[in-house]
Amino acid sequence: MEENRTELDNIGEFGLIEKLSANFENRNPRTLTGIGDDAAVVEISDTEAMLISTDMLIEGIHFNLMYMPLLHLGYKAVVVNLSDIIAMNAIPEQITVSIGVSSRFPIEAVEELYKGIKKACDMYNIDLIGGDTTSTYSGLTISITAIGRAKKEEIVYRSGAKEFDLLVVTGDLGAAYMGLQVLEREKEVFTASPDIQPDLDGHDYIIERQLKPEARKDILGYLKELNVQPTAMIDISDGLASEILHICKASKVGCHVYDEKIPIDAKTSMTAIDFNLDPGTCALNGGEDYELLFTVDQKDFEKVQGNPNMTIIGHITNEQDGKYFIDKNGSALELKAQGWTHF
Ligand code: ADP
Ligand code: MG
Repeated sequence: MEENRTELDNIGEFGLIEKLSANFENRNPRTLTGIGDDAAVVEISDTEAMLISTDMLIEGIHFNLMYMPLLHLGYKAVVVNLSDIIAMNAIPEQITVSIGVSSRFPIEAVEELYKGIKKACDMYNIDLIGGDTTSTYSGLTISITAIGRAKKEEIVYRSGAKEFDLLVVTGDLGAAYMGLQVLEREKEVFTASPDIQPDLDGHDYIIERQLKPEARKDILGYLKELNVQPTAMIDISDGLASEILHICKASKVGCHVYDEKIPIDAKTSMTAIDFNLDPGTCALNGGEDYELLFTVDQKDFEKVQGNPNMTIIGHITNEQDGKYFIDKNGSALELKAQGWTHF
């Protein structure tokens, strides 16, 4: 038998998902949306649907226990899953947690991880309803499934953006990425000379953004208060550019995104410059912000513009017009994702 071997690097994470899922179709009428959005959507009544999303975190790929305390890891593992449910404009209610642990970890370590999971459950009003536990040869793996609920008519997909809609992001971007750079730098210093204490002074904000992100459930409340229903939405896990391209692809539209409009905290910019990095590039490609990116109709311009949690960064164009990033000199560059592929 001839052996075919194609390297994963050739197609990347998203290419692989597309390839693997191509042969599956949804058979059950209650499966309203399967693969392809932040969460799957399953009808539970005429008016309501259940939202389901899974994410896996692997030691050495998604986290490094040298600087990620287990308490924070537990909290973050839950939050990143809740963020996907929230990105559908739905309220998360339950999680299941599956862990693979090697004998390197004492019971106390796993308990610490679960303290973090509990903190997130308390913070977001979530029930832990099950999971699975297994041993591994080495390292720690955490897989969490989050379940949420929404009125069917209020669910926001990646696919609803239309020409002239405004592109909006919440909070500020790039901080989690710069937090990671600082932690990585201190890890190198520590590995070289273990008696030097890490110098994390002045970096509290960006480190917190990396170690203890929050899911923007509050934004759903603000949108309701403003009476704004986004036309499309996604959470920013892999970097702003990558997520904008996901919306454009699913909605079959183009976009103009303005560099100067992208919200970046001063602490993020200062650290980026210290590291000889362009703050805009960090915000565009950094990832792990867990902010929301959404599009709204033009008629909602004033409502969104007046909200301190939201920033308009561009607008949606016709698909044929292409996807562009307008830099600070006014030059239009093709928008490209250099997010994390983890392969
Ligand atoms: P997110 O970044 O929002 O968590 P992903 O990029 O991980 O989303 O996943 C995109 C879509 O592909 C989702 O609908 C997810 O459920 C689906 N997916 C990811 N990996 C697999 C897989 N191995 N098999 C089937 N579906 C998958
Ligand atoms: Mg997502």
